[in-house]
Amino acid sequence: MCGILGIVGVNEKEDVYNELICGLTTLQHRGQDSAGLVTFDRTFHLEKKLGVASEVFKQNDLDSCRGAWGLGHTRYATQGETRLMDAQPFTLNHPYGIAMVHNGNITNFEQLRENLAQDHRYLIETSNDLEFLLYTFGLELEKTGMFRVTPESVFQAVEGVQRKVQGAYATIALIAGQGMVAFTDPCGIRPLLLGRKDTETGPAYAFASETKCFDYLGYTPIHQLGAGEAIFIDANKKIHTHSGVSKRQAFCVFEYIYLSQADTSFHGRLVASDREKLGHVIAKRFQERGFDPDIVIDVPSSGYFFAQGLAEALGIPYKKGLIKNNQAKRSFISPTQALRKKIVHQKHNPLKTVIQGKKVAVVDDSIVRGTTSKHICDLIRRAGAEAVYFVSGAPAIKHPCIYGVDMPDPGEMVAAIRTEEEVAEFMGADAVVYPSLEDMRSLYQGIGICDACFSGEYPSNVSEETLEAIRQEKVLSCR
Ligand code: 5GP
Ligand code: MG
Repeated sequence: MCGILGIVGVNEKEDVYNELICGLTTLQHRGQDSAGLVTFDRTFHLEKKLGVASEVFKQNDLDSCRGAWGLGHTRYATQGETRLMDAQPFTLNHPYGIAMVHNGNITNFEQLRENLAQDHRYLIETSNDLEFLLYTFGLELEKTGMFRVTPESVFQAVEGVQRKVQGAYATIALIAGQGMVAFTDPCGIRPLLLGRKDTETGPAYAFASETKCFDYLGYTPIHQLGAGEAIFIDANKKIHTHSGVSKRQAFCVFEYIYLSQADTSFHGRLVASDREKLGHVIAKRFQERGFDPDIVIDVPSSGYFFAQGLAEALGIPYKKGLIKNNQAKRSFISPTQALRKKIVHQKHNPLKTVIQGKKVAVVDDSIVRGTTSKHICDLIRRAGAEAVYFVSGAPAIKHPCIYGVDMPDPGEMVAAIRTEEEVAEFMGADAVVYPSLEDMRSLYQGIGICDACFSGEYPSNVSEETLEAIRQEKVLSCR
Protein backbone atom coordinates (compact mmCIF):
# COMPACT_ATOMS: atom_id res chain seq x y z
CA MET A 1 0.00 0.00 0.00
CA CYS A 2 1.11 3.56 -0.62
CA GLY A 3 0.06 7.18 -0.34
CA ILE A 4 0.15 9.32 -3.47
CA LEU A 5 -0.13 13.04 -4.03
CA GLY A 6 0.11 15.38 -7.02
CA ILE A 7 -0.04 19.18 -6.80
CA VAL A 8 -0.56 21.80 -9.48
CA GLY A 9 0.43 24.92 -7.59
CA VAL A 10 -0.94 28.43 -7.77
CA ASN A 11 1.73 30.03 -9.91
CA GLU A 12 5.15 29.37 -11.36
CA LYS A 13 6.90 31.50 -8.74
CA GLU A 14 5.81 29.37 -5.81
CA ASP A 15 7.72 26.16 -5.19
CA VAL A 16 5.49 23.29 -4.23
CA TYR A 17 7.88 21.05 -2.29
CA ASN A 18 6.88 22.26 1.18
CA GLU A 19 3.24 21.57 0.45
CA LEU A 20 4.15 18.13 -0.92
CA ILE A 21 6.06 17.23 2.25
CA CYS A 22 3.27 18.48 4.49
CA GLY A 23 0.77 16.47 2.42
CA LEU A 24 2.90 13.34 2.63
CA THR A 25 2.97 13.50 6.41
CA THR A 26 -0.84 13.24 6.35
CA LEU A 27 -0.56 10.10 4.20
CA GLN A 28 2.23 8.59 6.27
CA HIS A 29 0.03 5.81 7.67
CA ARG A 30 -0.24 4.48 4.10
CA GLY A 31 3.50 3.78 3.97
CA GLN A 32 6.50 4.40 6.15
CA ASP A 33 9.27 2.60 4.28
CA SER A 34 10.24 5.32 1.84
CA ALA A 35 9.17 8.83 0.93
CA GLY A 36 9.80 10.69 -2.29
CA LEU A 37 8.90 13.76 -4.27
CA VAL A 38 9.53 15.17 -7.69
CA THR A 39 9.01 18.73 -8.89
CA PHE A 40 9.26 20.24 -12.33
CA ASP A 41 10.38 23.65 -13.56
CA ARG A 42 12.58 23.21 -16.64
CA THR A 43 13.58 19.76 -15.58
CA PHE A 44 12.58 17.17 -12.99
CA HIS A 45 14.00 17.46 -9.46
CA LEU A 46 13.76 14.14 -7.67
CA GLU A 47 14.35 13.43 -3.96
CA LYS A 48 13.60 10.07 -2.39
CA LYS A 49 14.94 8.14 0.56
CA LEU A 50 14.13 5.28 2.88
CA GLY A 51 12.15 6.50 5.89
CA VAL A 52 9.31 8.84 6.74
CA ALA A 53 8.53 12.20 5.11
CA SER A 54 9.24 14.29 8.21
CA GLU A 55 12.78 12.87 8.42
CA VAL A 56 14.06 12.07 4.94
CA PHE A 57 13.82 15.47 3.27
CA LYS A 58 16.66 17.83 4.20
CA GLN A 59 16.60 21.52 3.34
CA ASN A 60 19.97 21.29 1.56
CA ASP A 61 18.57 18.75 -0.88
CA LEU A 62 15.30 20.61 -1.27
CA ASP A 63 16.87 23.91 -2.28
CA SER A 64 17.11 22.68 -5.84
CA CYS A 65 13.54 21.31 -5.93
CA ARG A 66 12.12 24.23 -7.86
CA GLY A 67 8.74 24.26 -9.51
CA ALA A 68 5.03 24.68 -8.86
CA TRP A 69 4.09 21.23 -10.19
CA GLY A 70 5.03 18.10 -8.27
CA LEU A 71 4.29 14.57 -7.12
CA GLY A 72 4.83 12.85 -3.78
CA HIS A 73 4.78 9.28 -2.53
CA THR A 74 4.93 7.26 0.69
CA ARG A 75 5.65 3.58 0.29
CA TYR A 76 4.65 0.54 2.26
CA ALA A 77 6.60 -2.45 1.03
CA THR A 78 5.10 -5.65 2.26
CA GLN A 79 7.75 -8.10 1.15
CA GLY A 80 11.12 -7.95 2.84
CA GLU A 81 13.14 -4.78 2.98
CA THR A 82 12.53 -1.77 0.81
CA ARG A 83 15.48 -0.88 -1.39
CA LEU A 84 16.06 2.71 -2.37
CA MET A 85 15.74 1.76 -6.03
CA ASP A 86 12.13 0.70 -5.37
CA ALA A 87 11.21 4.07 -3.87
CA GLN A 88 8.87 6.29 -5.91
CA PRO A 89 8.48 8.61 -7.87
CA PHE A 90 10.08 7.23 -11.04
CA THR A 91 10.92 9.39 -14.04
CA LEU A 92 11.40 8.73 -17.74
CA ASN A 93 12.99 11.21 -20.12
CA HIS A 94 11.16 10.09 -23.25
CA PRO A 95 8.59 10.92 -24.56
CA TYR A 96 8.37 14.48 -23.26
CA GLY A 97 9.62 13.54 -19.78
CA ILE A 98 7.22 11.73 -17.49
CA ALA A 99 7.28 11.42 -13.69
CA MET A 100 4.89 8.98 -12.06
CA VAL A 101 3.62 7.64 -8.73
CA HIS A 102 1.12 4.90 -8.07
CA ASN A 103 -0.67 2.93 -5.38
CA GLY A 104 -1.80 -0.62 -6.02
CA ASN A 105 -0.72 -3.94 -7.35
CA ILE A 106 -0.50 -5.25 -10.89
CA THR A 107 -1.55 -8.84 -11.50
CA ASN A 108 -0.29 -9.59 -15.04
CA PHE A 109 3.31 -8.59 -14.29
CA GLU A 110 4.83 -11.70 -15.93
CA GLN A 111 3.09 -11.03 -19.22
CA LEU A 112 4.01 -7.33 -19.13
CA ARG A 113 7.62 -8.13 -18.29
CA GLU A 114 7.80 -10.43 -21.29
CA ASN A 115 6.05 -8.05 -23.68
CA LEU A 116 8.15 -5.06 -22.66
CA ALA A 117 11.34 -7.09 -23.11
CA GLN A 118 10.42 -8.76 -26.39
CA ASP A 119 8.53 -6.00 -28.17
CA HIS A 120 10.35 -2.94 -26.85
CA ARG A 121 13.65 -4.19 -25.37
CA TYR A 122 12.94 -2.85 -21.90
CA LEU A 123 14.61 -4.36 -18.85
CA ILE A 124 12.54 -4.27 -15.65
CA GLU A 125 15.09 -3.38 -13.00
CA THR A 126 13.17 -2.90 -9.78
CA SER A 127 10.58 -4.94 -7.91
CA ASN A 128 8.16 -2.04 -8.19
CA ASP A 129 5.10 -2.35 -10.45
CA LEU A 130 5.41 1.32 -11.29
CA GLU A 131 7.93 0.42 -13.98
CA PHE A 132 5.22 -1.44 -15.92
CA LEU A 133 2.83 1.50 -15.71
CA LEU A 134 5.44 4.09 -16.59
CA TYR A 135 6.92 2.31 -19.61
CA THR A 136 3.51 1.28 -20.93
CA PHE A 137 2.17 4.82 -20.54
CA GLY A 138 5.28 6.25 -22.23
CA LEU A 139 4.97 3.83 -25.17
CA GLU A 140 1.26 4.57 -25.56
CA LEU A 141 1.85 8.32 -25.44
CA GLU A 142 4.66 8.01 -28.00
CA LYS A 143 2.27 6.10 -30.30
CA THR A 144 -0.08 9.09 -30.49
CA GLY A 145 2.74 10.90 -32.32
CA MET A 146 1.87 14.41 -31.12
CA PHE A 147 4.48 17.16 -30.91
CA ARG A 148 2.72 18.51 -27.81
CA VAL A 149 0.26 16.39 -25.87
CA THR A 150 -3.44 17.11 -26.16
CA PRO A 151 -6.14 15.90 -23.76
CA GLU A 152 -7.15 13.40 -26.45
CA SER A 153 -3.63 12.00 -26.82
CA VAL A 154 -3.22 11.70 -23.05
CA PHE A 155 -6.56 9.89 -22.70
CA GLN A 156 -5.71 7.60 -25.59
CA ALA A 157 -2.50 6.66 -23.79
CA VAL A 158 -4.39 6.09 -20.53
CA GLU A 159 -6.79 3.75 -22.32
CA GLY A 160 -3.83 1.90 -23.82
CA VAL A 161 -2.50 1.35 -20.29
CA GLN A 162 -5.90 0.28 -19.00
CA ARG A 163 -6.23 -2.33 -21.76
CA LYS A 164 -2.77 -3.78 -21.16
CA VAL A 165 -2.21 -3.50 -17.42
CA GLN A 166 -4.38 -5.60 -15.12
CA GLY A 167 -4.88 -5.27 -11.38
CA ALA A 168 -5.28 -2.23 -9.14
CA TYR A 169 -3.59 1.10 -9.78
CA ALA A 170 -4.32 4.65 -8.74
CA THR A 171 -1.78 6.62 -10.75
CA ILE A 172 -0.62 10.22 -11.15
CA ALA A 173 1.72 11.25 -13.98
CA LEU A 174 3.39 14.60 -14.47
CA ILE A 175 4.17 15.22 -18.14
CA ALA A 176 7.05 17.70 -18.33
CA GLY A 177 5.72 21.19 -18.98
CA GLN A 178 2.45 19.89 -20.40
CA GLY A 179 0.21 18.79 -17.58
CA MET A 180 -0.72 16.27 -14.95
CA VAL A 181 -2.94 13.24 -15.46
CA ALA A 182 -4.52 11.01 -12.81
CA PHE A 183 -6.25 7.72 -13.60
CA THR A 184 -7.39 4.47 -12.04
CA ASP A 185 -7.62 0.86 -13.18
CA PRO A 186 -10.90 -0.14 -14.88
CA CYS A 187 -12.45 -1.21 -11.55
CA GLY A 188 -11.32 1.86 -9.55
CA ILE A 189 -10.02 -0.33 -6.75
CA ARG A 190 -7.61 2.04 -4.99
CA PRO A 191 -8.60 5.59 -3.98
CA LEU A 192 -7.78 8.78 -5.84
CA LEU A 193 -9.43 12.17 -5.40
CA LEU A 194 -9.21 15.65 -6.88
CA GLY A 195 -9.21 18.76 -4.67
CA ARG A 196 -9.21 22.49 -5.43
CA LYS A 197 -7.96 25.51 -3.54
CA ASP A 198 -8.92 29.03 -4.60
CA THR A 199 -6.43 31.79 -3.90
CA GLU A 200 -6.22 35.48 -4.82
CA THR A 201 -3.84 34.63 -7.64
CA GLY A 202 -5.87 31.72 -9.00
CA PRO A 203 -6.73 28.12 -8.28
CA ALA A 204 -4.43 25.27 -7.26
CA TYR A 205 -5.32 21.60 -7.69
CA ALA A 206 -4.27 18.42 -5.95
CA PHE A 207 -4.79 14.70 -6.48
CA ALA A 208 -4.44 12.55 -3.35
CA SER A 209 -5.20 9.13 -1.87
CA GLU A 210 -7.26 10.55 1.00
CA THR A 211 -9.36 13.62 1.71
CA LYS A 212 -7.56 14.17 5.02
CA CYS A 213 -4.61 15.36 2.98
CA PHE A 214 -6.82 18.05 1.40
CA ASP A 215 -8.06 19.14 4.85
CA TYR A 216 -4.53 19.81 6.05
CA LEU A 217 -3.45 21.56 2.85
CA GLY A 218 -6.59 23.69 2.53
CA TYR A 219 -8.07 22.06 -0.57
CA THR A 220 -11.75 21.21 -1.00
CA PRO A 221 -12.38 17.71 -2.34
CA ILE A 222 -14.33 18.12 -5.57
CA HIS A 223 -14.31 14.66 -7.11
CA GLN A 224 -13.36 11.03 -6.48
CA LEU A 225 -12.18 9.26 -9.60
CA GLY A 226 -14.60 6.51 -10.60
CA ALA A 227 -13.72 3.18 -12.19
CA GLY A 228 -11.31 3.74 -15.08
CA GLU A 229 -11.71 7.51 -14.97
CA ALA A 230 -8.93 9.88 -16.02
CA ILE A 231 -8.52 13.59 -15.26
CA PHE A 232 -5.98 15.72 -17.12
CA ILE A 233 -4.95 19.19 -15.95
CA ASP A 234 -3.26 20.92 -18.89
CA ALA A 235 -0.44 23.47 -18.78
CA ASN A 236 -3.01 26.29 -18.51
CA LYS A 237 -4.64 24.51 -15.57
CA LYS A 238 -7.75 23.64 -17.56
CA ILE A 239 -9.38 20.42 -16.38
CA HIS A 240 -10.34 17.68 -18.84
CA THR A 241 -12.15 14.49 -17.78
CA HIS A 242 -12.53 11.18 -19.53
CA SER A 243 -14.38 8.02 -18.60
CA GLY A 244 -11.62 5.65 -19.83
CA VAL A 245 -11.86 1.85 -19.96
CA SER A 246 -14.24 0.93 -17.18
CA LYS A 247 -15.96 -2.05 -15.63
CA ARG A 248 -18.23 -2.27 -12.61
CA GLN A 249 -16.70 -0.13 -9.85
CA ALA A 250 -15.01 -2.22 -7.15
CA PHE A 251 -13.63 0.23 -4.59
CA CYS A 252 -11.55 -1.52 -1.90
CA VAL A 253 -13.78 -1.83 1.16
CA PHE A 254 -10.72 -2.44 3.33
CA GLU A 255 -9.93 1.26 2.81
CA TYR A 256 -12.98 1.97 5.01
CA ILE A 257 -12.19 -0.84 7.46
CA TYR A 258 -8.49 -0.36 8.12
CA LEU A 259 -6.26 1.27 5.51
CA SER A 260 -7.47 4.86 5.52
CA GLN A 261 -7.63 7.09 8.52
CA ALA A 262 -10.89 7.86 10.28
CA ASP A 263 -10.97 11.52 9.16
CA THR A 264 -10.99 10.66 5.45
CA SER A 265 -14.15 10.46 3.32
CA PHE A 266 -14.64 8.31 0.23
CA HIS A 267 -17.65 8.66 -2.03
CA GLY A 268 -18.93 11.27 0.41
CA ARG A 269 -18.83 8.90 3.42
CA LEU A 270 -16.64 9.57 6.42
CA VAL A 271 -14.54 6.51 7.33
CA ALA A 272 -15.13 7.06 11.08
CA SER A 273 -18.93 7.09 10.61
CA ASP A 274 -18.90 3.90 8.56
CA ARG A 275 -16.85 2.16 11.23
CA GLU A 276 -19.38 3.28 13.84
CA LYS A 277 -22.22 1.98 11.67
CA LEU A 278 -20.53 -1.42 11.44
CA GLY A 279 -20.32 -1.31 15.25
CA HIS A 280 -24.10 -0.83 15.35
CA VAL A 281 -24.60 -3.83 13.07
CA ILE A 282 -22.30 -5.97 15.20
CA ALA A 283 -24.47 -5.13 18.24
CA LYS A 284 -27.29 -7.07 16.56
CA ARG A 285 -25.05 -10.12 16.34
CA PHE A 286 -24.44 -9.82 20.11
CA GLN A 287 -28.14 -9.59 20.88
CA GLU A 288 -28.97 -12.56 18.64
CA ARG A 289 -26.51 -14.71 20.50
CA GLY A 290 -27.60 -13.53 23.95
CA PHE A 291 -24.19 -12.14 24.94
CA ASP A 292 -24.32 -9.33 27.51
CA PRO A 293 -20.89 -7.73 27.98
CA ASP A 294 -20.45 -5.11 30.73
CA ILE A 295 -18.00 -2.91 28.83
CA VAL A 296 -16.57 -2.42 25.33
CA ILE A 297 -12.86 -1.75 24.88
CA ASP A 298 -10.85 -1.35 21.68
CA VAL A 299 -7.52 -2.60 20.39
CA PRO A 300 -5.84 0.72 19.67
CA SER A 301 -5.80 2.49 17.35
CA SER A 302 -7.88 1.17 14.48
CA GLY A 303 -10.58 -0.57 16.56
CA TYR A 304 -11.83 2.64 18.20
CA PHE A 305 -14.79 3.72 16.04
CA PHE A 306 -16.17 0.18 15.69
CA ALA A 307 -15.99 -0.10 19.50
CA GLN A 308 -17.70 3.23 20.02
CA GLY A 309 -20.55 2.23 17.69
CA LEU A 310 -20.92 -1.14 19.39
CA ALA A 311 -21.02 0.36 22.91
CA GLU A 312 -23.56 2.97 21.81
CA ALA A 313 -25.85 0.36 20.25
CA LEU A 314 -25.59 -2.03 23.20
CA GLY A 315 -26.11 0.81 25.67
CA ILE A 316 -23.02 -0.08 27.73
CA PRO A 317 -19.89 1.97 28.49
CA TYR A 318 -16.95 2.25 26.12
CA LYS A 319 -13.75 2.20 28.18
CA LYS A 320 -10.11 2.53 27.36
CA GLY A 321 -8.83 -0.84 28.59
CA LEU A 322 -5.64 -1.28 26.58
CA ILE A 323 -2.77 1.16 26.30
CA LYS A 324 -0.63 0.96 23.20
CA ASN A 325 3.12 1.22 23.34
CA ASN A 326 3.75 3.56 20.45
CA GLN A 327 7.43 2.65 20.35
CA ALA A 328 6.68 -0.95 19.31
CA LYS A 329 7.36 -1.78 15.68
CA ARG A 330 4.74 -2.92 13.21
CA SER A 331 4.01 -6.59 13.79
CA PHE A 332 1.87 -7.33 10.78
CA ILE A 333 4.53 -7.24 8.08
CA SER A 334 7.36 -8.84 10.02
CA PRO A 335 8.76 -11.78 8.08
CA THR A 336 8.39 -14.61 10.60
CA GLN A 337 5.66 -15.67 13.01
CA ALA A 338 8.18 -15.69 15.87
CA LEU A 339 9.02 -12.04 15.23
CA ARG A 340 5.35 -11.08 14.79
CA LYS A 341 4.56 -12.68 18.15
CA LYS A 342 7.45 -10.91 19.82
CA ILE A 343 6.36 -7.49 18.55
CA VAL A 344 2.71 -8.13 19.41
CA HIS A 345 3.83 -8.88 22.98
CA GLN A 346 5.46 -5.44 23.20
CA LYS A 347 2.46 -3.55 21.91
CA HIS A 348 -0.34 -3.43 24.48
CA ASN A 349 -0.74 -3.18 28.24
CA PRO A 350 -4.14 -3.83 29.88
CA LEU A 351 -5.65 -1.58 32.57
CA LYS A 352 -6.56 -4.06 35.30
CA THR A 353 -8.93 -1.74 37.13
CA VAL A 354 -11.04 -1.40 33.99
CA ILE A 355 -11.09 -5.09 33.08
CA GLN A 356 -11.13 -7.04 36.37
CA GLY A 357 -14.37 -8.91 37.03
CA LYS A 358 -15.98 -7.62 33.82
CA LYS A 359 -17.45 -9.35 30.80
CA VAL A 360 -15.43 -7.57 28.12
CA ALA A 361 -16.18 -7.07 24.42
CA VAL A 362 -12.83 -6.20 22.86
CA VAL A 363 -12.88 -4.77 19.34
CA ASP A 364 -10.21 -4.76 16.64
CA ASP A 365 -10.71 -3.63 13.04
CA SER A 366 -9.93 -7.07 11.64
CA ILE A 367 -8.53 -10.50 12.36
CA VAL A 368 -6.06 -11.85 9.85
CA ARG A 369 -3.66 -14.46 11.23
CA GLY A 370 -5.08 -14.12 14.72
CA THR A 371 -1.68 -13.22 16.17
CA THR A 372 -2.91 -9.98 17.73
CA SER A 373 -6.26 -11.28 18.91
CA LYS A 374 -4.84 -14.42 20.56
CA HIS A 375 -2.42 -12.32 22.58
CA ILE A 376 -5.03 -9.70 23.48
CA CYS A 377 -7.44 -12.38 24.73
CA ASP A 378 -4.68 -13.75 26.92
CA LEU A 379 -3.84 -10.28 28.30
CA ILE A 380 -7.46 -9.52 29.11
CA ARG A 381 -7.99 -12.84 30.84
CA ARG A 382 -4.85 -12.36 32.92
CA ALA A 383 -6.15 -8.90 33.86
CA GLY A 384 -9.11 -10.69 35.48
CA ALA A 385 -11.92 -10.51 32.90
CA GLU A 386 -14.91 -12.72 33.61
CA ALA A 387 -15.63 -13.26 29.90
CA VAL A 388 -13.89 -12.18 26.67
CA TYR A 389 -15.82 -11.62 23.45
CA PHE A 390 -13.42 -10.83 20.64
CA VAL A 391 -15.03 -8.60 18.03
CA SER A 392 -13.80 -7.97 14.50
CA GLY A 393 -15.01 -4.82 12.72
CA ALA A 394 -14.58 -6.63 9.41
CA PRO A 395 -16.18 -9.89 8.31
CA ALA A 396 -14.00 -13.01 8.39
CA ILE A 397 -10.98 -12.64 6.10
CA LYS A 398 -10.54 -15.83 4.08
CA HIS A 399 -8.92 -14.94 0.75
CA PRO A 400 -5.71 -13.22 -0.32
CA CYS A 401 -5.78 -9.65 -1.60
CA ILE A 402 -4.14 -9.40 -5.00
CA TYR A 403 -4.70 -5.67 -5.28
CA GLY A 404 -2.15 -4.26 -2.88
CA VAL A 405 -3.16 -5.11 0.67
CA ASP A 406 -0.72 -7.38 2.43
CA MET A 407 -2.73 -10.49 3.18
CA PRO A 408 -0.89 -13.74 3.90
CA ASP A 409 -1.53 -17.07 2.28
CA PRO A 410 -5.02 -18.36 3.10
CA GLY A 411 -3.24 -21.21 4.90
CA GLU A 412 -2.10 -18.64 7.50
CA MET A 413 -5.45 -16.87 7.83
CA VAL A 414 -7.13 -17.98 11.01
CA ALA A 415 -10.68 -17.82 9.59
CA ALA A 416 -9.92 -19.47 6.26
CA ILE A 417 -9.54 -22.91 7.72
CA ARG A 418 -11.67 -22.76 10.88
CA THR A 419 -15.30 -22.41 11.92
CA GLU A 420 -16.20 -19.46 14.14
CA GLU A 421 -16.15 -21.73 17.22
CA GLU A 422 -12.70 -22.98 16.26
CA VAL A 423 -11.45 -19.40 15.79
CA ALA A 424 -12.71 -18.54 19.29
CA GLU A 425 -11.00 -21.62 20.68
CA PHE A 426 -7.76 -20.76 18.85
CA MET A 427 -7.63 -17.29 20.37
CA GLY A 428 -8.90 -18.31 23.79
CA ALA A 429 -12.05 -16.18 23.63
CA ASP A 430 -15.49 -17.11 24.95
CA ALA A 431 -16.76 -16.19 21.50
CA VAL A 432 -15.65 -14.34 18.39
CA VAL A 433 -18.15 -11.95 16.81
CA TYR A 434 -17.97 -10.76 13.20
CA PRO A 435 -20.41 -8.82 11.04
CA SER A 436 -21.53 -11.06 8.17
CA LEU A 437 -20.49 -10.38 4.57
CA GLU A 438 -24.14 -9.44 3.91
CA ASP A 439 -24.09 -6.96 6.83
CA MET A 440 -21.14 -5.23 5.25
CA ARG A 441 -22.52 -5.38 1.72
CA SER A 442 -25.80 -3.81 2.75
CA LEU A 443 -23.90 -0.92 4.33
CA TYR A 444 -22.20 -0.21 0.99
CA GLN A 445 -25.19 -0.64 -1.30
CA GLY A 446 -24.87 1.99 -3.98
CA ILE A 447 -21.07 2.06 -3.93
CA GLY A 448 -19.51 -0.73 -5.97
CA ILE A 449 -17.00 -2.35 -3.60
CA CYS A 450 -14.29 -4.99 -3.83
CA ASP A 451 -14.73 -7.43 -0.96
CA ALA A 452 -12.59 -10.21 -2.43
CA CYS A 453 -10.64 -10.78 0.82
CA PHE A 454 -13.95 -11.74 2.46
CA SER A 455 -15.84 -13.28 -0.45
CA GLY A 456 -13.16 -14.57 -2.85
CA GLU A 457 -14.95 -12.70 -5.68
CA TYR A 458 -12.20 -10.84 -7.54
CA PRO A 459 -13.56 -7.98 -9.66
CA SER A 460 -10.86 -8.20 -12.35
CA ASN A 461 -10.72 -11.57 -14.04
CA VAL A 462 -7.98 -13.66 -12.48
CA SER A 463 -7.30 -17.27 -13.24
CA GLU A 464 -6.18 -19.84 -10.67
CA GLU A 465 -2.72 -19.71 -12.30
CA THR A 466 -2.51 -15.95 -11.77
CA LEU A 467 -3.54 -16.34 -8.14
CA GLU A 468 -0.86 -18.97 -7.71
CA ALA A 469 1.77 -16.84 -9.49
CA ILE A 470 0.94 -13.94 -7.19
CA ARG A 471 1.23 -16.22 -4.18
CA GLN A 472 4.65 -17.35 -5.37
CA GLU A 473 5.96 -13.93 -6.29
CA LYS A 474 8.00 -12.94 -3.28
CA VAL A 475 9.29 -9.64 -4.51
CA LEU A 476 6.07 -7.95 -5.39
CA SER A 477 6.05 -4.26 -5.89
CA CYS A 478 4.46 -1.49 -3.96
CA ARG A 479 1.46 -2.76 -2.08
P1 5GP B 1 -3.50 -10.46 12.87
O1 5GP B 1 -2.77 -10.15 14.12
O2 5GP B 1 -4.82 -11.15 13.10
O3 5GP B 1 -2.68 -11.21 11.87
O4 5GP B 1 -3.85 -9.10 12.12
C1 5GP B 1 -4.81 -8.22 12.64
C2 5GP B 1 -4.15 -6.97 13.15
O5 5GP B 1 -3.32 -6.42 12.13
C3 5GP B 1 -5.17 -5.91 13.49
O6 5GP B 1 -4.77 -5.29 14.70
C4 5GP B 1 -5.13 -4.90 12.33
O7 5GP B 1 -5.25 -3.57 12.80
C5 5GP B 1 -3.78 -5.14 11.71
N1 5GP B 1 -3.82 -5.18 10.22
C6 5GP B 1 -4.79 -5.66 9.42
N2 5GP B 1 -4.45 -5.53 8.12
C7 5GP B 1 -3.24 -4.96 8.10
C8 5GP B 1 -2.34 -4.54 7.05
O8 5GP B 1 -2.62 -4.68 5.86
N3 5GP B 1 -1.16 -4.01 7.46
C9 5GP B 1 -0.84 -3.85 8.77
N4 5GP B 1 0.33 -3.30 9.09
N5 5GP B 1 -1.65 -4.21 9.77
C10 5GP B 1 -2.83 -4.77 9.44
MG1 MG C 1 -4.28 -3.03 14.71
